[in-house]
Amino acid sequence: MEIKLTRNSYYATCTCATCGEAFMRDTVVPILVDEAGIAIGEICERCFQATREELSARIRRQANHLRRSAADLDRIDAEPIRRPSAADIQAIEPAPASATSLDSYIVQLLHQATWQGQAI
Ligand SMILES: [Zn+2]
Repeated sequence: MEIKLTRNSYYATCTCATCGEAFMRDTVVPILVDEAGIAIGEICERCFQATREELSARIRRQANHLRRSAADLDRIDAEPIRRPSAADIQAIEPAPASATSLDSYIVQLLHQATWQGQAI
């Protein structure tokens, strides 16, 4: 593997290709490239500065995490899906004033679906 530097024209939040942590991409960003020259992805400052052994440990930890996540997705994909009934939707209390915007958005969708007679 090789770490190359690339230049970008904008800042963005990225996910590190080796450790999976979110980081703010600067205008210069390290990219991990494999021996075939294929870019694996952008890496964070901690992975960029890590020793070979530290980077390997971070890669192994993230690979194990991704394997567990893939196994979870494969398992739940085989399961039937149960959704809230119309009665469940009716029973939902309006979001309190302190609710997050996501809470408010979900409650709004549920009320809208109920009003339109749709099951979601
Ligand atoms: Zn990282």
